[in-house]
Amino acid sequence: MAGEPQSDCLFCKIVAGEIPTTVVRKTEDTIAFRDIHPQAPTHVLVIPRVHYPNAAALAAAEPALAAELLTEAGEVAAGEGIADYRMIFNTGAGAGQTVFHAHVHVLGGEPLREGLV
Ligand code: AMP
Ligand code: ZN
Repeated sequence: MAGEPQSDCLFCKIVAGEIPTTVVRKTEDTIAFRDIHPQAPTHVLVIPRVHYPNAAALAAAEPALAAELLTEAGEVAAGEGIADYRMIFNTGAGAGQTVFHAHVHVLGGEPLREGLV
């Protein structure tokens, strides 16, 4: 069922405390932690505690929680002292999604390379 923990999901295991991470922020509904393979000086992932396969599915089911993910991404950037940053939602393996639990990448801390957009 949407929102239920998935036994084979890496980020559900992180939510359950089964895999250690460097936590940056926590709320009742979200966790922000440092990406294990940082692509920029600041590279933090913000995830909802509940499981949805991607950000659009999260937004469709729980729009307030999707909004909180964005608010938290902004709080992460503020906490890191960066005004310029990028939020990325990879959706689908062909777009680079490797963990199928909704998350936003917060990247910044240096002049970021021009991307696709
Ligand atoms: P995506 O490719 O958009 O699905 O993003 C998944 C991200 O999770 C990648 O950037 C990985 O480096 C990151 N990642 C995978 N395992 C861990 C972990 N144990 N702790 C922190 N980040 C992780
Ligand atoms: Zn999950």
